Amino acid sequence: MSPPVLGIEAKVSILITSSGNWDVKCLKHHLCNEYVDSILKIPTGSNRTADTMLWHYEGNGRYTVKSGYWLGYKLMEGPRTSNVNSSSQWWIFLWNLNVPLKVKIFIWKACFDWIPTAPNLARRRVPVRDRCPMCKKEFDSTLHALWKRKQLKDIRTDWRRMLVNNRGINGNFLDFILDLYQCLNMKDMALFCVSVWRIWYCRNVKIHGQHSCEISEVGTWCKNYLIEYQTSNENGNRISSGGNQLFETWIPPNQDHYKINCCSVFDGGKG
Ligand SMILES: [Zn+2]
Repeated sequence: MSPPVLGIEAKVSILITSSGNWDVKCLKHHLCNEYVDSILKIPTGSNRTADTMLWHYEGNGRYTVKSGYWLGYKLMEGPRTSNVNSSSQWWIFLWNLNVPLKVKIFIWKACFDWIPTAPNLARRRVPVRDRCPMCKKEFDSTLHALWKRKQLKDIRTDWRRMLVNNRGINGNFLDFILDLYQCLNMKDMALFCVSVWRIWYCRNVKIHGQHSCEISEVGTWCKNYLIEYQTSNENGNRISSGGNQLFETWIPPNQDHYKINCCSVFDGGKG
Protein backbone atom coordinates (compact mmCIF):
# COMPACT_ATOMS: atom_id res chain seq x y z
CA MET A 1 0.00 0.00 0.00
CA SER A 2 1.36 3.48 -0.86
CA PRO A 3 2.07 5.80 2.08
CA PRO A 4 -0.01 9.00 2.37
CA VAL A 5 1.39 11.69 0.08
CA LEU A 6 2.63 14.99 1.49
CA GLY A 7 0.54 18.00 0.50
CA ILE A 8 1.79 20.34 -2.22
CA GLU A 9 2.31 23.06 0.40
CA ALA A 10 4.36 20.78 2.68
CA LYS A 11 7.82 22.01 3.65
CA VAL A 12 10.92 20.06 4.57
CA SER A 13 10.70 21.49 8.10
CA ILE A 14 7.72 19.25 8.90
CA LEU A 15 10.08 16.28 8.50
CA ILE A 16 12.60 17.66 11.02
CA THR A 17 12.23 17.49 14.79
CA SER A 18 12.63 20.49 17.11
CA SER A 19 16.13 19.24 17.96
CA GLY A 20 17.14 19.56 14.28
CA ASN A 21 17.23 15.85 13.34
CA TRP A 22 15.19 14.01 10.75
CA ASP A 23 11.84 12.88 12.15
CA VAL A 24 12.20 9.19 11.22
CA LYS A 25 8.65 8.31 12.25
CA CYS A 26 7.21 11.07 10.09
CA LEU A 27 9.47 10.15 7.13
CA LYS A 28 8.42 6.51 7.35
CA HIS A 29 4.77 7.52 7.54
CA HIS A 30 4.93 9.52 4.28
CA LEU A 31 7.64 7.90 2.17
CA CYS A 32 8.77 4.49 0.91
CA ASN A 33 11.65 2.84 2.78
CA GLU A 34 14.18 3.37 0.01
CA TYR A 35 13.52 7.13 -0.02
CA VAL A 36 13.72 7.26 3.78
CA ASP A 37 17.12 5.54 3.69
CA SER A 38 18.40 8.09 1.14
CA ILE A 39 17.01 11.08 3.05
CA LEU A 40 18.55 9.95 6.33
CA LYS A 41 21.96 10.20 4.66
CA ILE A 42 21.48 13.94 4.06
CA PRO A 43 22.77 16.07 6.96
CA THR A 44 20.05 18.41 8.25
CA GLY A 45 22.54 21.20 9.05
CA SER A 46 23.02 22.99 12.36
CA ASN A 47 21.73 26.41 11.25
CA ARG A 48 17.95 26.67 11.42
CA THR A 49 16.97 29.12 8.71
CA ALA A 50 13.53 29.97 7.47
CA ASP A 51 12.16 28.01 4.49
CA THR A 52 12.59 29.79 1.20
CA MET A 53 11.65 29.12 -2.41
CA LEU A 54 14.54 27.96 -4.62
CA TRP A 55 14.59 27.58 -8.38
CA HIS A 56 16.69 24.50 -8.90
CA TYR A 57 17.28 25.11 -12.62
CA GLU A 58 19.84 27.76 -11.66
CA GLY A 59 22.95 27.09 -9.56
CA ASN A 60 22.20 29.98 -7.18
CA GLY A 61 18.54 28.99 -6.75
CA ARG A 62 17.22 32.26 -8.24
CA TYR A 63 14.70 32.30 -11.07
CA THR A 64 15.80 33.79 -14.40
CA VAL A 65 13.74 34.26 -17.55
CA LYS A 66 16.41 32.35 -19.49
CA SER A 67 16.11 29.17 -17.37
CA GLY A 68 12.32 29.54 -17.21
CA TYR A 69 12.18 29.70 -21.01
CA TRP A 70 14.50 26.70 -21.28
CA LEU A 71 12.30 24.63 -18.94
CA GLY A 72 9.10 25.61 -20.76
CA TYR A 73 10.68 24.66 -24.07
CA LYS A 74 11.84 21.28 -22.73
CA LEU A 75 8.41 20.47 -21.29
CA MET A 76 6.73 21.29 -24.60
CA GLU A 77 9.27 19.25 -26.49
CA GLY A 78 8.79 16.18 -24.24
CA PRO A 79 11.39 13.44 -23.90
CA ARG A 80 13.55 12.86 -26.97
CA THR A 81 12.82 9.80 -28.99
CA SER A 82 13.25 8.78 -32.59
CA ASN A 83 10.03 6.83 -32.31
CA VAL A 84 7.44 9.61 -32.11
CA ASN A 85 4.47 7.57 -33.37
CA SER A 86 4.45 4.96 -30.62
CA SER A 87 5.49 7.45 -27.93
CA SER A 88 2.02 8.90 -27.25
CA GLN A 89 0.39 5.45 -27.14
CA TRP A 90 3.15 4.21 -24.88
CA TRP A 91 2.25 6.68 -22.09
CA ILE A 92 -1.38 5.51 -22.10
CA PHE A 93 -0.16 1.92 -22.04
CA LEU A 94 2.21 2.66 -19.13
CA TRP A 95 -0.45 4.33 -16.93
CA ASN A 96 -2.78 1.37 -17.55
CA LEU A 97 -0.28 -1.29 -16.49
CA ASN A 98 -1.26 -3.38 -13.48
CA VAL A 99 1.74 -2.36 -11.35
CA PRO A 100 2.02 -0.08 -8.28
CA LEU A 101 1.92 3.66 -9.00
CA LYS A 102 5.47 4.12 -7.65
CA VAL A 103 6.75 1.75 -10.37
CA LYS A 104 4.94 3.71 -13.10
CA ILE A 105 6.35 6.98 -11.77
CA PHE A 106 9.85 5.50 -11.70
CA ILE A 107 9.59 4.32 -15.33
CA TRP A 108 8.17 7.69 -16.38
CA LYS A 109 11.11 9.47 -14.74
CA ALA A 110 13.61 7.05 -16.29
CA CYS A 111 12.11 7.75 -19.75
CA PHE A 112 12.73 11.48 -19.20
CA ASP A 113 16.24 10.72 -17.82
CA TRP A 114 15.21 12.22 -14.47
CA ILE A 115 16.48 9.50 -12.16
CA PRO A 116 19.57 10.40 -10.08
CA THR A 117 22.28 8.70 -12.11
CA ALA A 118 25.81 10.02 -11.57
CA PRO A 119 25.73 12.51 -14.51
CA ASN A 120 22.34 13.82 -13.38
CA LEU A 121 23.67 14.32 -9.84
CA ALA A 122 26.79 16.03 -11.22
CA ARG A 123 24.55 18.39 -13.20
CA ARG A 124 22.88 19.31 -9.91
CA ARG A 125 26.35 20.15 -8.51
CA VAL A 126 26.58 17.05 -6.33
CA PRO A 127 30.33 16.30 -6.15
CA VAL A 128 30.35 12.96 -8.03
CA ARG A 129 32.01 11.79 -11.23
CA ASP A 130 29.80 10.97 -14.21
CA ARG A 131 31.09 7.36 -14.33
CA CYS A 132 29.02 4.36 -13.26
CA PRO A 133 29.52 3.80 -9.51
CA MET A 134 29.33 0.03 -10.07
CA CYS A 135 31.94 -0.56 -12.82
CA LYS A 136 33.67 2.84 -12.34
CA LYS A 137 34.35 2.85 -16.08
CA GLU A 138 31.34 3.48 -18.29
CA PHE A 139 29.28 6.66 -18.49
CA ASP A 140 26.42 6.23 -16.02
CA SER A 141 23.48 6.79 -18.38
CA THR A 142 19.97 5.69 -17.38
CA LEU A 143 20.17 2.86 -19.90
CA HIS A 144 23.54 1.74 -18.54
CA ALA A 145 22.34 1.80 -14.91
CA LEU A 146 19.10 -0.06 -15.62
CA TRP A 147 20.02 -2.44 -18.42
CA LYS A 148 23.42 -2.39 -20.07
CA ARG A 149 25.88 -2.84 -17.23
CA LYS A 150 27.84 -6.05 -16.84
CA GLN A 151 26.13 -7.27 -13.66
CA LEU A 152 22.78 -7.45 -15.50
CA LYS A 153 23.95 -9.93 -18.15
CA ASP A 154 21.84 -12.85 -16.86
CA ILE A 155 18.71 -10.70 -16.65
CA ARG A 156 19.29 -9.50 -20.22
CA THR A 157 19.69 -13.09 -21.39
CA ASP A 158 16.40 -14.07 -19.72
CA TRP A 159 14.54 -11.27 -21.47
CA ARG A 160 16.26 -11.47 -24.84
CA ARG A 161 14.26 -14.47 -26.03
CA MET A 162 11.10 -12.31 -25.87
CA LEU A 163 12.57 -9.24 -27.52
CA VAL A 164 12.04 -10.23 -31.15
CA ASN A 165 11.82 -6.64 -32.31
CA ASN A 166 14.77 -5.33 -30.38
CA ARG A 167 16.93 -3.39 -32.83
CA GLY A 168 19.86 -3.17 -30.45
CA ILE A 169 20.31 -0.95 -27.47
CA ASN A 170 22.24 2.07 -28.58
CA GLY A 171 19.67 4.80 -28.05
CA ASN A 172 18.37 6.19 -24.77
CA PHE A 173 16.15 4.43 -22.26
CA LEU A 174 12.96 5.74 -23.86
CA ASP A 175 13.94 4.40 -27.28
CA PHE A 176 14.72 1.08 -25.68
CA ILE A 177 11.42 0.79 -23.82
CA LEU A 178 9.48 1.86 -26.94
CA ASP A 179 11.08 -1.07 -28.74
CA LEU A 180 9.96 -3.38 -25.96
CA TYR A 181 6.49 -1.87 -26.12
CA GLN A 182 6.27 -3.13 -29.73
CA CYS A 183 6.89 -6.75 -28.74
CA LEU A 184 5.74 -7.29 -25.14
CA ASN A 185 2.16 -7.77 -24.01
CA MET A 186 0.80 -5.96 -20.93
CA LYS A 187 1.61 -8.82 -18.57
CA ASP A 188 5.26 -9.07 -19.67
CA MET A 189 5.68 -5.30 -19.76
CA ALA A 190 4.36 -5.10 -16.18
CA LEU A 191 7.02 -7.60 -15.14
CA PHE A 192 9.69 -5.75 -17.09
CA CYS A 193 8.84 -2.41 -15.43
CA VAL A 194 8.92 -3.96 -11.94
CA SER A 195 12.25 -5.63 -12.81
CA VAL A 196 13.85 -2.34 -13.88
CA TRP A 197 12.53 -0.62 -10.75
CA ARG A 198 13.99 -3.41 -8.60
CA ILE A 199 17.34 -3.27 -10.48
CA TRP A 200 17.58 0.43 -9.59
CA TYR A 201 16.81 -0.35 -5.95
CA CYS A 202 19.48 -3.10 -5.80
CA ARG A 203 22.02 -0.78 -7.41
CA ASN A 204 21.44 1.92 -4.78
CA VAL A 205 21.52 -0.56 -1.91
CA LYS A 206 24.84 -1.88 -3.19
CA ILE A 207 26.32 1.62 -3.59
CA HIS A 208 25.32 2.63 -0.07
CA GLY A 209 26.44 -0.71 1.41
CA GLN A 210 23.25 -1.44 3.28
CA HIS A 211 21.40 -4.77 3.40
CA SER A 212 22.01 -7.08 0.49
CA CYS A 213 19.81 -7.23 -2.59
CA GLU A 214 21.09 -9.87 -5.00
CA ILE A 215 20.70 -9.20 -8.72
CA SER A 216 20.40 -12.98 -9.27
CA GLU A 217 17.17 -12.93 -7.24
CA VAL A 218 15.55 -10.02 -9.07
CA GLY A 219 13.57 -12.26 -11.47
CA THR A 220 11.95 -14.40 -8.78
CA TRP A 221 11.44 -11.47 -6.41
CA CYS A 222 9.63 -9.44 -9.10
CA LYS A 223 7.36 -12.30 -10.14
CA ASN A 224 6.30 -12.88 -6.51
CA TYR A 225 5.90 -9.15 -5.88
CA LEU A 226 3.62 -8.75 -8.90
CA ILE A 227 1.51 -11.80 -8.02
CA GLU A 228 1.05 -10.47 -4.49
CA TYR A 229 0.19 -6.95 -5.70
CA GLN A 230 -2.23 -8.09 -8.40
CA THR A 231 -3.93 -10.66 -6.16
CA SER A 232 -4.50 -8.14 -3.38
CA ASN A 233 -5.83 -5.67 -5.98
CA GLU A 234 -8.30 -8.25 -7.31
CA ASN A 235 -9.46 -9.13 -3.80
CA GLY A 236 -9.84 -5.45 -2.96
CA ASN A 237 -11.95 -4.87 -6.06
CA ARG A 238 -14.09 -7.91 -5.30
CA ILE A 239 -14.78 -6.73 -1.76
CA SER A 240 -15.51 -3.17 -2.81
CA SER A 241 -17.84 -4.33 -5.61
CA GLY A 242 -19.87 -6.18 -2.96
CA GLY A 243 -19.76 -3.11 -0.72
CA ASN A 244 -23.53 -2.75 -0.43
CA GLN A 245 -23.76 -6.06 1.35
CA LEU A 246 -20.80 -5.35 3.61
CA PHE A 247 -22.07 -1.99 4.80
CA GLU A 248 -25.77 -2.77 5.15
CA THR A 249 -27.47 -0.82 7.89
CA TRP A 250 -27.64 -2.88 11.08
CA ILE A 251 -31.15 -3.69 12.26
CA PRO A 252 -31.71 -4.79 15.86
CA PRO A 253 -33.36 -8.23 16.40
CA ASN A 254 -36.89 -8.66 17.67
CA GLN A 255 -37.41 -8.76 21.40
CA ASP A 256 -36.21 -12.02 23.08
CA HIS A 257 -34.05 -12.82 20.06
CA TYR A 258 -30.27 -12.66 19.71
CA LYS A 259 -28.50 -11.60 16.57
CA ILE A 260 -25.01 -12.84 15.70
CA ASN A 261 -23.13 -10.77 13.12
CA CYS A 262 -20.34 -12.35 11.15
CA CYS A 263 -18.47 -11.68 7.95
CA SER A 264 -16.71 -13.99 5.53
CA VAL A 265 -15.06 -13.82 2.14
CA PHE A 266 -14.84 -16.66 -0.37
CA ASP A 267 -13.22 -17.05 -3.74
CA GLY A 268 -16.12 -17.45 -6.20
CA GLY A 269 -13.73 -18.66 -8.90
CA LYS A 270 -12.67 -21.68 -6.85
CA GLY A 271 -16.17 -22.54 -5.59
ZN1 LIG B 1 28.79 0.28 -15.08
